[in-house]
Amino acid sequence: SYRKGGYHAVRIADQFAGGRYIAQRKLGWGQFSTVWLAYDTTTSAYVALKIQKSAAQFVQAALHEIDVLSSIADDAPSNSKFVVQLIDHFKHTGPNGQHLCMVLEFLGDSLLRLIRHNRYKGLPMNKVREICKCILIGLDYLHREHGIIHTDLKPENVLLVSTIDPAKDPVRSGLSPILERPEGNTNVAVSSLIEKKLKRRARRAVAKISGQRGSMGGIGDVSKSERNIDGIDVRCKVVDFGNACWADKPFAEEIQTRQYRAPEVILQAGYSFSVDMWSFACIAFELATGDMLFTPKVGQGFSEDEDHLALMMELLGKIPRKVATAGAKSKDFFDRHGDLRRIRRLKFWPLNKLLIDRYKFSESVAHEFSEFLLPLLDFAPEKRPTAQKCLEHPWFMAKECITNEMRNDSSVEKVDVGISNLKIKVGK
Ligand code: ADP
Ligand code: MG
Repeated sequence: SYRKGGYHAVRIADQFAGGRYIAQRKLGWGQFSTVWLAYDTTTSAYVALKIQKSAAQFVQAALHEIDVLSSIADDAPSNSKFVVQLIDHFKHTGPNGQHLCMVLEFLGDSLLRLIRHNRYKGLPMNKVREICKCILIGLDYLHREHGIIHTDLKPENVLLVSTIDPAKDPVRSGLSPILERPEGNTNVAVSSLIEKKLKRRARRAVAKISGQRGSMGGIGDVSKSERNIDGIDVRCKVVDFGNACWADKPFAEEIQTRQYRAPEVILQAGYSFSVDMWSFACIAFELATGDMLFTPKVGQGFSEDEDHLALMMELLGKIPRKVATAGAKSKDFFDRHGDLRRIRRLKFWPLNKLLIDRYKFSESVAHEFSEFLLPLLDFAPEKRPTAQKCLEHPWFMAKECITNEMRNDSSVEKVDVGISNLKIKVGK
């Protein structure tokens, strides 16, 4: 994708916005952009520099994201602290075209990394609770204060607040020691000779660091302290507003990443804030168990959408006929009785039972957790609690840390009973 219209290739020590920002290392990438840790010479702080691909549709998407993020950043009450802050934006011209760049506050690893580094075993329930609380405060702020639907909530798009100060800990954060703090006022042009030398040394230094840490290019390897998640502050923030929209101006019909997609989106029955609540519930389950809640697959004689609807019903019960038949695509999936046309035999396995049987939750923890999740997974979108309401749920008061630590004991293995292998093809 590093071609015309695609990503901008960045080298360490590259300068942006007339020398204000200096690239340090790559933090991550998405479909639309690469994101770099950069040093802001004006404020002497580290920032995340999101450099968008340059083709017209990506420019458009970036302009939209800047629009959304600036409207959020404008007022900045305390709840906005659970949503990433836009600091600056500018254009950067490179060999692949003109790229819109967003300067964002520097955050840490994504929840996906956190789940991975916990070896997909699920996090202790008190951590799940803390993370859920942050996401909900962020969502409540977006929904109620701004009328914004995120539409792409998933573990990759929630980042932990970084516990590493790149300035104080250059090795752990993968920084080049030479570049960690440019000398003096770097707005003054550095002579090109010194600059070249600096870049060469920086590259060598980074190569050395990444070699020591045994990771590719030193990118995003999680430090030891982060691996032990009991040692970290689990405050987190919602990022990636590239697909966000104002509820009164929805622009895409197909929203959300597959596994986090709400049923009304599959059925094309219209959507609102409650689609974020559905995705939120999927994230909460994944944090607690290490597994995605729904992983639909195409099968013989049925589509991914149909498998997805079947999985939802196996876990949550039948979709009420009224909801099942309300969408533009309902007829493709359901007959007039509200039964799936091509997947007939469902194996019902309620959430509570799943948590106990497969994930070895104690009865009380499973019960409390499913009481919290099930209302969010209501097939009728208008019945799902709002983020505000959800924050008042008794689950946030529960204390089951001890039970949960026992559950996370590595001697307890997940029992895979194969919920997804139960589809039976029916002839037409
Ligand atoms: P895209 O729109 O291309 O998906 P994202 O905004 O999701 O871009 O960013 C891509 C990745 O870059 C994220 O998953 C994360 O790893 C990293 N990233 C994004 N924003 C930040 C930030 N503010 N601080 C640190 N890393 C970030
Ligand atoms: Mg993303």
